[in-house]
Amino acid sequence: MHRLVSLAATRPIRLVSTSASTSATTPTSAPKSKSRWLGFLFVGATATAAGIYVRQSNDSATLNQETFTKYSLVSREPVSTTSSLFTLRPRKFSEFNYDVYEDAWATGVWSVMFKQPQLQIGRDYTPLPTTAATGLSVEDENEGCLRFFIRKDPFGEVSRYLHTIEVGADVELRGPKIECAIPEETDEVLFIAGGTGIAPALQAGYSLLSRDGRRKIHILWANRLKDDCAGGQSDSLKLSAKQGWFSSWFGSKSETPQIVSVRDEDRSLIVRELEALKSQYPGQVTVDYFLDEDNTFIGKEAVRASIDSSSDSKSKLILVSGPEGFISYMAGPKLWAQGQELQGPLNGIIRELDLKDWGVWKL
Ligand SMILES: Cc1cc2nc3c(=O)[nH]c(=O)nc-3n(C[C@H](O)[C@H](O)[C@H](O)COP(=O)(O)OP(=O)(O)OC[C@H]3O[C@@H](n4cnc5c(N)ncnc54)[C@H](O)[C@@H]3O)c2cc1C
Repeated sequence: MHRLVSLAATRPIRLVSTSASTSATTPTSAPKSKSRWLGFLFVGATATAAGIYVRQSNDSATLNQETFTKYSLVSREPVSTTSSLFTLRPRKFSEFNYDVYEDAWATGVWSVMFKQPQLQIGRDYTPLPTTAATGLSVEDENEGCLRFFIRKDPFGEVSRYLHTIEVGADVELRGPKIECAIPEETDEVLFIAGGTGIAPALQAGYSLLSRDGRRKIHILWANRLKDDCAGGQSDSLKLSAKQGWFSSWFGSKSETPQIVSVRDEDRSLIVRELEALKSQYPGQVTVDYFLDEDNTFIGKEAVRASIDSSSDSKSKLILVSGPEGFISYMAGPKLWAQGQELQGPLNGIIRELDLKDWGVWKL
């Protein structure tokens, strides 16, 4: 039998999805003198490795980039009024899934494509890492289960479909696709997430912090509703009193991060995931919450305040993930050219901040 172990006790792993391109991308290590984009097309080690598993197993039971693999929906638990946690198990057991997932987790941020069979369309979703707090049972992990945090778009084809199928139904997945290979030398990440963009932030955290050395990640997470991040406690509020951070006000809006208070048992599942990451890596993770509902938002002040100029990190990376408009506002739009999605030039507030020594990557 291939490795059957508890992932909770070992390094978490992440995947990738196959959309227009099967190529993965990797930012360079943080530039020495100024922020810039480096969009190298990277048909890298992970893709190659995944190919090997496909050849080795040569069946549809192993997640792969060429064909869709059947999983079944084990459970769908509401996380908020607009999103749910999905758990999927491969329909047939494959001893190779563990290695496919592990390679992806070790590489960085990854996704898988879900197929909507009636319309024959696919959408990418981001597997969540496994934590002791809310994770899968050892049995589920050994069976190759994956979990996803998916927002239901009331007009969206695939997310709506996924929210209506019965538990036990088949769901076809293809991947993994590496969205961002976090360079080995990266020792500090600022992750700016909007909505479900938090899923890749959790991935980046697990991938980065499970590497050797004392690396750090700071997450800024913006949501529309309190319900989306109930119970979230912003870490920078502790600092703001001392250091005067986030003191700027722009009209009625504020860049002050929030405490979204609720009873412990009502804390959002994703907030509990973030707390679990903090407990697993004490002092290496900070999270700040922003809410449209409360007129707090991630602007220049919030980003600047998250950049610790006294940090001795050598290779620093900003990752931005969320809806298109959110990414454009933060870092300028991504571009489509010759059937490929490209990074596009750095724009938005990150460019205006002209941050030295930080690489930037749009997810
Ligand atoms: C790498 C990656 C990872 C992702 N991970 C996650 C994740 O973990 N969780 C998650 O929830 N999402 C994730 N997403 C987003 C996800 O892939 C889908 O884009 C999202 O679920 C919406 O898909 P849909 O099919 O439901 O909506 P779509 O059918 O694509 O529609 C999206 C919106 O566009 C509007 N629309 C569609 N067609 C038109 C038109 N012709 N004119 C005007 N408006 C139109 C619809 O009304 C709807 O509001 C990820 C995306 C990527 C690229």
